[in-house]
Amino acid sequence: MSKIKFTLGDKLIFAILVAGSLFWIIVINPIIFADTEPQVVQLIQGGEVKAEYSLETLMREEQIRVESEAGYNVIKISEEGVSVISASCPDQLCMTTRITHANQSIVCLPNKLIIKIKGKAEVDEIVY
Ligand SMILES: [Zn+2]
Repeated sequence: MSKIKFTLGDKLIFAILVAGSLFWIIVINPIIFADTEPQVVQLIQGGEVKAEYSLETLMREEQIRVESEAGYNVIKISEEGVSVISASCPDQLCMTTRITHANQSIVCLPNKLIIKIKGKAEVDEIVY
């Protein structure tokens, strides 16, 4: 009798452990690591993704010059975030924003440019 009880207890503990680890993997894990997923900076021009830069593999500060029919933007990507350091647009609004986290974006309306941080890369290829 005591033997059976012991086995049931073992099974119960095992079930709790399995449930616990499943709970950890499915529920807790994505919450804790949501912000540390590889972040990708996207340059979107005229509704098309022109380039992507992985923030994870970023070793040093990068400066990217984007040309359009309307003008240009010079984008700085560093560990402090993403910003526009120089632009030809008349309003210069894009130079007032700095983005650091996923789902934030900088928009330059005159140059039809959107600079966006994506939380996770959906595209396998990274175009440099
Ligand atoms: Zn602008």
